[in-house]
Amino acid sequence: MPAVAQFDRKAVEQAIADFLRALGQEPSRELGQTPALVAQAWCEDLLSGYAMDPAQVLREDAVAVEPGQSSLVVLRGLSVATMCPHHLLPAHGEATIIYLPAGRVAGFGAIARALEAQTRRLTFQEHAGMAMASLLVDELRARGALCELRLAHSCLAARGARQAAAFVESVAFAGSFAEPGADRDAALAVLGHQARGIYPWRPEGDGPREAPPAMPSGYAEPSACRPGSLEAEVCSSVASEAECKPDSSSKGKR
Ligand SMILES: [Zn+2]
Repeated sequence: MPAVAQFDRKAVEQAIADFLRALGQEPSRELGQTPALVAQAWCEDLLSGYAMDPAQVLREDAVAVEPGQSSLVVLRGLSVATMCPHHLLPAHGEATIIYLPAGRVAGFGAIARALEAQTRRLTFQEHAGMAMASLLVDELRARGALCELRLAHSCLAARGARQAAAFVESVAFAGSFAEPGADRDAALAVLGHQARGIYPWRPEGDGPREAPPAMPSGYAEPSACRPGSLEAEVCSSVASEAECKPDSSSKGKR
């Protein structure tokens, strides 16, 4: 499949009209506008990711940064909508992206657009997450990257198991995050803060809270996520290149 697809919108409209008739529904009165509205939704929103090449989005925005320091960059609360390729039903929710640059970075907006290009398609959640993590390593040459997706699936809620309250969580790892070591420990520690409700930080006195998991040696706590920075959706921690290299002592921890 080409990276950037074109749609035949008139053919989509006709197919929806045929689909309705096959279900015993004549596309008139209440359903009179339905073929055009459905075609618009699919072509302009639901599958709009096919109009963009996610690799190109990142490549065009990438800039070199001073080597020698590694910032663990964390983007939280990114909106995601995707389409199940089995049932043609939507899933929606949020993504967290963490990557460890190795000399190149892209703007946060470009990463969000690349995610949109990768997910607004007919794709499985796990495949979209893995593709996104791999893109950051392949196109930005990040040392490590992960993409966590937490999505509510209409095909899990409205049909089959009919589990309307269920979410599906997946975490895809690429580069150094895919191997045991300090990089992966740091990324998982940041994710652990979120999974245990530590992020965003709650004010003191708002019920008991656990201590956050310790960051591996050489990694600072993500400073932008400390109290007073509740609005921050992007945070980073800094460690020197030498300090955050995986070493033999960190192997086999998990
Ligand atoms: Zn499905």
